[in-house]
Amino acid sequence: MDDLVVELAGLLGEAHVLVSAQDQAPFLSDWLGKYRGAARAVVRPGSTEEVAAVMRLCTRHGVPVVPQGGNTSMSGGATPDGSGRAIVLSLTRMNRIRALDAIGNTITVDAGVVLARVQQAAQQAGRFFPLSFGAEGSCTIGGNLAANAGGVAVLRYGTMRELTLGLEVVLADGRIWDGLTALRKDSTGYSLRDLFIGSEGTLGVITGAVLKLFAQPHARATAFVAVPDVAAALSLLAVARDRCGDRLTAFEFMTGDCLSLILRHVGEARLPLGAMPPAAVLIELSDQDDEPGLRDRLEAALLGSIETGLVLDAAIAQDGTQAKAFWRIREGVSEALVREGKAAKHDVSMPVSAMADFVAAADAAVHTAALGVRPIVFGHLGDGNLHYNLLPAQGQDPAAFAALTPALTRIVHDEIACRRGSISAEHGIGQLRVAEMPLRKAPLDLELMRSLKDLLDPAGLLNPGKLLAGKLLPASTSN
Ligand SMILES: Cc1cc2nc3c(=O)[nH]c(=O)nc-3n(C[C@H](O)[C@H](O)[C@H](O)COP(=O)(O)OP(=O)(O)OC[C@H]3O[C@@H](n4cnc5c(N)ncnc54)[C@H](O)[C@@H]3O)c2cc1C
Repeated sequence: MDDLVVELAGLLGEAHVLVSAQDQAPFLSDWLGKYRGAARAVVRPGSTEEVAAVMRLCTRHGVPVVPQGGNTSMSGGATPDGSGRAIVLSLTRMNRIRALDAIGNTITVDAGVVLARVQQAAQQAGRFFPLSFGAEGSCTIGGNLAANAGGVAVLRYGTMRELTLGLEVVLADGRIWDGLTALRKDSTGYSLRDLFIGSEGTLGVITGAVLKLFAQPHARATAFVAVPDVAAALSLLAVARDRCGDRLTAFEFMTGDCLSLILRHVGEARLPLGAMPPAAVLIELSDQDDEPGLRDRLEAALLGSIETGLVLDAAIAQDGTQAKAFWRIREGVSEALVREGKAAKHDVSMPVSAMADFVAAADAAVHTAALGVRPIVFGHLGDGNLHYNLLPAQGQDPAAFAALTPALTRIVHDEIACRRGSISAEHGIGQLRVAEMPLRKAPLDLELMRSLKDLLDPAGLLNPGKLLAGKLLPASTSN
């Protein structure tokens, strides 16, 4: 047997070192079915000390390590390459809620805890953890941190970066960095915590986190709203902000084409409107107030907007079941896209005020480049984040469309660059966008990122080929 595997089994026990093709299979391909890799072993440590021991061993042997949580990455971030040299380090056995402080409003967890469990633990203690999105039943806190995940409540509560107070991280050489503090204020120099958030497993393995909790919202009001276009949706966002203030929790946008796709592929999704609209937004308010009061506030904002032509039609959920049905539509987008075929995926962000112009310009440019291409556009409009997906023309050969994809991506990302936007708002660079980094990041950005990578992972063993590929720049390059 492979010497490394024998040593790993000595550290973790044979049951937690997977070598057979069958056992490894779920860890070697991504959620979208776009990437498939190979691994020397899949290891499943059960504690921070075991992660440290694995890292020491891998550094000694020069073996690459791909950290993995729930394996729901949308950018191939947790899938090893095809060489079979790397080990996959799965954190899912590390699933303890370590502590919950209801007075200090914090929860301390292992990195492998599934997001939905953190939400439940907070709720059981009368508190609230706001990170939420379609993959919450299987993604983990470590993956959420490594990708700086966003989701549907960023508008009110921020991304994972804003939701985190402290981290525990195992470095490439096996040292354990204990930054697991619950401080809301700390003015003692560089924020090392923020370095690891969004680093996609390339700087260290996150093993624990202290997260912020909030007051549980007792009332929610949810509406499914037909709008003429992106520009109207943005004006409606301004109205909703003015009328509802901080109560505005979610403002999710979908084009009519996106809605049609969901209704076609997600059996239980039902449109709560009279007719298929050109576009729609799902609006949610949340508060400590009484629910009827909150619903009245939402209704007043929508009625005023019908008069000004921003809203074509609207349905307000009368109870939790209806609200859930509205959310089922929004949450069905990813699975509907997977069922329709392989899309060219873009996860872009830009100033909110630039979004209508971006969609018009990108739509026009991609239609010129690829006849019949189908933009499926949805996203977190209030955060300036759109998922701008492109499906092949009806009946187009998937291979022909795949050949066109780099050119289409170039077009979309050019439209983002001229608006000073980002090519990844929340899904990360992974392997999907790694070739774009030298084109889209300033040389000085890349140089500083490369210096940090070299400092923390000099042998380049942590998640190679993701985020930063190879040595990108000579040291002298400047901005
Ligand atoms: C249906 C669906 C809907 C989604 N919606 C959203 C959304 O609205 N918003 C959003 O932000 N994302 C969304 N995602 C993307 C994905 O769920 C998130 O990126 C999630 O945060 C990944 O968590 P994970 O545990 O699955 O990480 P993985 O997929 O396992 O890994 C993601 C990245 O993090 C690294 N990593 C994992 N664990 C660790 C660790 N402990 N230490 C260091 N690095 C680690 C991996 O190497 C990889 O680079 C969605 C995905 C799906 C399938």
